[in-house]
Amino acid sequence: MDPRLLRAPQDASFIPTSWYNIVPDLPEPLPPMLRPDGSRVEPGDLLPIFPRAVIEQEFSRERYIEIPGTLRSLYARLGRPTPLFRARGLEEALGTTAQIYYKFEGVLPTGSHKINTATAQAYYASLEGVKRLTTETGAGQWGSALALGGALFGVKVRVYMVKVSYNQKPYRRVVMQVYGAEVIPSPSPYTESGRSILREDPDNPGSLGIAISEAVEDAAKHEDTKYSLGSVLNSVLLHQTVIGLEAKRQLNELGVYPDIVVGAVGGGSNYAGISYPFMYDRLRGASNTRFIAVEPTAAPTMTRGRLEYDYGDTAGLTPLIYMYTLGHKFVPPPIHAGGLRYHGLAPTLSVLVKNGLVEPVAYPQTSVFDAAVFFARHEGIIPAPESAHAVKAVIDLALKAKEEGKSPVILFNLSGHGLLDLQGYDDYLNGRLTDAEPSLASH
Ligand SMILES: *Cc1c(COP(=O)(O)O)cnc(C)c1O
Repeated sequence: MDPRLLRAPQDASFIPTSWYNIVPDLPEPLPPMLRPDGSRVEPGDLLPIFPRAVIEQEFSRERYIEIPGTLRSLYARLGRPTPLFRARGLEEALGTTAQIYYKFEGVLPTGSHKINTATAQAYYASLEGVKRLTTETGAGQWGSALALGGALFGVKVRVYMVKVSYNQKPYRRVVMQVYGAEVIPSPSPYTESGRSILREDPDNPGSLGIAISEAVEDAAKHEDTKYSLGSVLNSVLLHQTVIGLEAKRQLNELGVYPDIVVGAVGGGSNYAGISYPFMYDRLRGASNTRFIAVEPTAAPTMTRGRLEYDYGDTAGLTPLIYMYTLGHKFVPPPIHAGGLRYHGLAPTLSVLVKNGLVEPVAYPQTSVFDAAVFFARHEGIIPAPESAHAVKAVIDLALKAKEEGKSPVILFNLSGHGLLDLQGYDDYLNGRLTDAEPSLASH
């Protein structure tokens, strides 16, 4: 058998020389970020918080932004291009007529796609003499990635980690500490925002929104410190397009083009990463590819949220962002896919959902773990609970294709491995998982 049918070539030349910025290609202009008084946020407003280069990318309308040479070779050293597999085991187990391919970001050192932007942000910070980066983390994936990014570029990192994850996932704390980062459970007593939440509710399990408030406040109050965000921002989504750009070349080597692109969505960065380079073709009328974005029913931002201006964090310290949101005070039930427990959604992805170009679906976590275990038994890889949302949707699509006698090419992003998420798997295997549907009555 031709091995190329099972695994696409992985030549270092497949690492793109530029990231793709979807902003100039959107079907309608991207609504600007606003200040609380309703005026537009100007780039200078963000200088106390972000490195200058990151701000430039945030406001950029250039379609392609060059990847600095240092970063491109670092991508190669860390394992890019990542593998693109044909899911033959899964296809056979399902008896589907669909062809399923997946890009696997779990081979990267911290186990997920997040290192793609963490290295970029730490690189730009170091160039500008930033001494310290603060951030938030949910499942710990983003914190681990930034901890490594900081270590590689000599920048100190402080991570505010959502308390429920800090308790559920002690090993990720250790990973961050191995890389030299300082890890603090959030809400914490170290910031105004943390203290005010603890006064109201000492047992608050935390959320990404709260942790963001703490990290932003910390950066704003220290001259030598900037803040780093792992998702949602245009600049972050941009960095993640290495995933889709590589996948496009790898599939092209096989003579294949996807009919459906699937991925899991927290803030939207890995989904943008895998899908935007293909969305580019759809937007200019060169393809009819369908785009399916998967979220948990416990944090149903796209399927039950509202499209409106809202804050990115619980305390309302960030600019107002026009996005699908469950409300910045929303605290999702503590599901195992900690990385998907975010109330908002990247603005560019919000525009695409609004225009029907991206179709959202939501699944409860028990069905997601069913899919994850099935995938592990037929493909070998234990998916991160976040990534398993994509697996669940792919299995449903593949079964539907079989029913309808169709043979679509499905591409999905397996955004990370689940080897540090075994508590979730243990709960699943022992019947301890429950499905929480939040009441959105107050929203
Ligand atoms: C953080 C994370 C996600 C969700 O974040 P996005 O910004 O939506 O990509 C998905 N999968 C994994 C493995 C993650 O670590």
